[in-house]
Amino acid sequence: MNKCQPLFLCCLIGLLVCGNTSCQAQSGETANSANRTTTSAQAKPIPNAAAILIKAYPAYLDYYADNYLYFKDGSKMLFDDGQADKSFDDLFNQPDVEDQLRFAYPLGSEFAVPVAEKDNPGRIRQEAFFKKMYGSTEAEARAQLTQVVWLPKNIGQNIPFSQVNGAAQALQAVSNELDDLVAQQPEMLKYLQNIGGTFNWRTIRNTPNRLSPHSFGFSIDINTTYTNYWQWDNPPKYRNQIPWAIVEIFERHKFIWGGKWYHYDTMHFEYRPEFFVE
Ligand SMILES: [Zn+2]
Repeated sequence: MNKCQPLFLCCLIGLLVCGNTSCQAQSGETANSANRTTTSAQAKPIPNAAAILIKAYPAYLDYYADNYLYFKDGSKMLFDDGQADKSFDDLFNQPDVEDQLRFAYPLGSEFAVPVAEKDNPGRIRQEAFFKKMYGSTEAEARAQLTQVVWLPKNIGQNIPFSQVNGAAQALQAVSNELDDLVAQQPEMLKYLQNIGGTFNWRTIRNTPNRLSPHSFGFSIDINTTYTNYWQWDNPPKYRNQIPWAIVEIFERHKFIWGGKWYHYDTMHFEYRPEFFVE
């Protein structure tokens, strides 16, 4: 320990903690190189958004270090591009991984209506991040699809959904509970019949080649007849017809709802476990 004291002093002065391996001063390295070691990401708390993503996607994400998220295949992705003052459009068109969690998703039935301007929790998606897991091309995303039986007792329709991250499993659980809900409250069936769709590799209308979340097979639109969508209203004015009993079931299985977006899309549900990490 005595031999390490000069380095400890150096570290204290720099308000840093000595690295966990050995005292770099012993090997004759300079204070600067010691600082590089001690400022490594292992010694610093990782950003909250990175920790949340690692918890939400344990099959793919391994760890965070030095502003990168590392995937289990050894590849890495930049976490924060350092642009904290992006315009609203740039947040959607050029987000980094960190920006995805810019808006907090309000859990439960108590949320502000109309939704506050620009509040779009979950609507910011860094495409590379999702392509990495769900497929970077239509063929790759399609290869991950499995069939979910939509309301087995009341509808019995097979619908494609991605098996990645347990999304299809989660949707099947939603579907089974919605089936039970309809058994108790038959008036709920109309919202769940003739669904708008699930997997569809396409860009979002009026955007510079932004992929729709339906491209990844983790989103479902329920019956469009009872839907309110900001692009269909001129001017947009928040309204919703989807009963909370339906939304509650989706949220319990880690689906976010487009009815909580300023740019509302009340038919839309999307499997996004990062917004449900406790
Ligand atoms: Zn949708």
